[in-house]
Amino acid sequence: MKSLVWFRRDLRLHDQMALSYATQNSDEVYGVFVFDTNILDKIADKRDHRVTFIHDTLMNMNEALSAKNAALYLLHGDPVELVPKLAQELGVDRVCVNRDYEDYAKKRDAKVSTILEKKSIEFSSFKDQVIFESSEIRTKEGSFYKVFTPYSREWGRQLHSVENAVSERPVNLSKLAYKKLKGYTQNLSLKDIGFEATDKGRRWEIDGKKRFKSFLKKVENYHQTRDLPFMDGTSRLSPHLRFGNVSIRELVRGLGKIDNEGKKSWLNELVWRDFYSGFLDTHNYVEKESYKYGGLEWEKSKKLLEAWKEGRTGVPIVDAGMRQLNETGWMHNRVRMIVGSYLTKILLIDWLEGERYFGDKLIDYDLASNNGGWQWCASTGTDAVPYFRIFNPYTQAERFDKDASYIKKYVPELAALPAKFVHNPTLMDGKTQESYGVVLGRDYPLPIADYKAGRARALAAFKEVADGKN
Ligand code: FAD
Repeated sequence: MKSLVWFRRDLRLHDQMALSYATQNSDEVYGVFVFDTNILDKIADKRDHRVTFIHDTLMNMNEALSAKNAALYLLHGDPVELVPKLAQELGVDRVCVNRDYEDYAKKRDAKVSTILEKKSIEFSSFKDQVIFESSEIRTKEGSFYKVFTPYSREWGRQLHSVENAVSERPVNLSKLAYKKLKGYTQNLSLKDIGFEATDKGRRWEIDGKKRFKSFLKKVENYHQTRDLPFMDGTSRLSPHLRFGNVSIRELVRGLGKIDNEGKKSWLNELVWRDFYSGFLDTHNYVEKESYKYGGLEWEKSKKLLEAWKEGRTGVPIVDAGMRQLNETGWMHNRVRMIVGSYLTKILLIDWLEGERYFGDKLIDYDLASNNGGWQWCASTGTDAVPYFRIFNPYTQAERFDKDASYIKKYVPELAALPAKFVHNPTLMDGKTQESYGVVLGRDYPLPIADYKAGRARALAAFKEVADGKN
């Protein structure tokens, strides 16, 4: 029996279900990764940090495999054509993959499976990306949960009752092989696929295991540090989870006994990840539309949207967040919520605009979590809290960035001001502005929207739709 493992968002050689299955049940196993032109051609900026991160990860994997005289084939093109072609040329009996729940991926896999079937090659797919798939966590009525809290309760119950839910899926690397084939390579450079390396992509340590190990030393404080954007108080494992440099099972196993608030709180975030994945899987249409309040009339101001994207709203915590995103390709979760609430409520701009912008910029961009996060901010998603949760960016800044050090880092033009004016520069009168050398409208933008008026407008707009639905 020969197998081909098609790697996608599971870029590791340990605790990897498809690879585990293939290496346990075949005499010879090959591996392939396809730089998918259906996805890459849509990326306008060819200096993309995600492509750099993926490429660096693959280079590391091939380096590790070279010690075993093996390598992954690296291809560039349409996987629907390339994967069955390679499978046939290698003469494998089976192609193994780990399941992906996005609409595009499901359709792609269905096509590949059909082509393989015609060639009498088996297509086997496995659960790997999540602890529990949407089919496993169901209400009594058999549907997927629409609210997080009861979902998380059932998730926790199953974590303890399902045997092997998080046990390691062992990989026998000695089964991996590489056969020289004309027209195939293990050495595709970024240039070969039309991209360039970025510092942003390289700033991330590829080794998720190492990152997790250092995070474990402080996880017990996570519940206290997770909301403070000036601290390195979260795991920063989101890119690794996105591309599979770490296994979700090894993270849950690594926590061990959930014996403190920090661990409990961090595990809960991993449950959110499963929840959004399952929700997307069962409601793929939410990729393009609101789950609720679909009839809302959004503001269509390009000018306001551009100011938000560029971090020029005149609201410091919002600008700091957007500049962190633009400069580093990542943003702290608390600030994601603040900038999301500001865009969708105060500016009343469609969450899809924010979702798309994050999709272009985030190194950890994950359709399910991003979509879930945005619809949470916009109150158009599954969240049980009504639409009148509207974050006040000024009080959020006072609460979570007390001495304003996060804002000052990303909005350096405000660095000379005392914290209370950094949180809200409009509290300064003209004389005070002159005395600090920070004149609003000259050195830092005046707010592009009035918070109170924006809030009132959002409440009225949502109420109108809610009343219409009653
Ligand atoms: P930690 O706090 O250490 O959490 C550990 C892991 O749990 C994260 O790496 C992530 O995989 C998962 N997680 C944490 N919070 C959430 C959450 N709210 N929803 C789902 N999973 C979560 N996360 C992404 O991975 N990709 C995205 O594209 C994404 N877009 C978001 C957009 C918005 C508007 C919002 C509000 C949140 C978004 N999130 C997204 C969730 C969250 O902000 C990030 O997962 C988190 O900031 C990553 O940092 P970390 O790894 O240090 O997280």
